Order: sequence, then structure tokens, then C-alpha cells
Amino acid sequence: YSGKKPAQSVTDEMIGMKVGDFQSIPVVVSENVTVYDAICQMFLDDVGTLFVVDKSSFLTGVLSRKDLLRTSLGNTELDKIPVHVIMTRMPNITFCKKQDSLIHVAKKMMDKQIDSLPVIVNKGEGLEVVGRITKTNITAAFLSLAEEHDL
Ligand code: ADP
Repeated sequence: YSGKKPAQSVTDEMIGMKVGDFQSIPVVVSENVTVYDAICQMFLDDVGTLFVVDKSSFLTGVLSRKDLLRTSLGNTELDKIPVHVIMTRMPNITFCKKQDSLIHVAKKMMDKQIDSLPVIVNKGEGLEVVGRITKTNITAAFLSLAEEHDL
């Protein structure tokens, strides 16, 4: 036993939880793939968000389930629309780094009402996508905290 009050040790541990310890593998698509192919990719990789990258593999956009659904409602030619036309694009992308605190990321998700953030490394000319953090990762972190403290 650490000798600290349990409440204090839970607090310390929460503050110490970093994105890098809970992140998942990102699923990326190129800007020129079609909406149809992006929908297939989302099912194949079983994710709710795809990150869009340019030829240099730098982040240019985000595609959510509803972005794809919205487009599917009004269009029959999904195999003719490139995803860059419908995605949320830079500089309006909320992202994080693996050293960021998970609490900080959770707050960003709630404030912006989004389900996931790309984890990036800034390469100067662009942002390289190295991970993905979602509400599921936050839930897993919440549970691991409870389990470590026998709650
Ligand atoms: P859904 O649209 O399926 O409910 P989200 O709540 O994550 O999924 O997305 C809501 C909107 O915010 C979508 O238009 C999506 O493109 C955009 N979005 C999702 N993630 C981000 C992000 N990290 N940064 C900026 N915009 C995002």
C-alpha cells in the first residue's frame, strides 16, 4: 500500500494516463478514394472514423459514419464522388499527440462533440497520423482505473 489516501492515488493515476498508452491503430484512406470505397473500408476495418491523407501521407481530413451516411442519402453515384469533397478538412481537424493526457483529450471530444481524434506527429510540412483515440479507448481507460483500484 502506497500510504497515500486512495482518493489521492486515483487522482494521480488519472492525471498520468497518456494517449500513447490507450490509443488504437489508425485507419487511413487517400483523398482520392471514392465514398463507396470509404464505406467498404469502414466496414472492413470495423472503425467509426477514417482519417484522410494526401500523397505524402499527411493528414488532410476526417470521415465519420454520419458524413458517409449523409452523402449516401442524397446520392446514387457514390463510386464517383472522391472523399475529399465530403470530408471535414484541415485546419478544422482536432488532433492530439501521444504524450497528451487522456483527460485533456476526453474534454476535447466532449467540447467538440466528436467521437475520435487522430494521434499525430508534426513533421514540419504536415501531420503524420500514428494513432487513433476514440470514446471506446476512454471507456477502457476508465475501466482500467477502476480495476486497478478494485472498484
Ligand atoms: P458521427 O458524425 O458519425 O456522429 P462524429 O461525432 O465523430 O461522428 O463526427 C461529427 C462530425 O465531426 C463529422 O462531420 C466529422 O467529420 C467531424 N469530426 C469527427 N472527428 C473530428 C476531428 N477529430 N476533428 C474535426 N472534426 C471531426
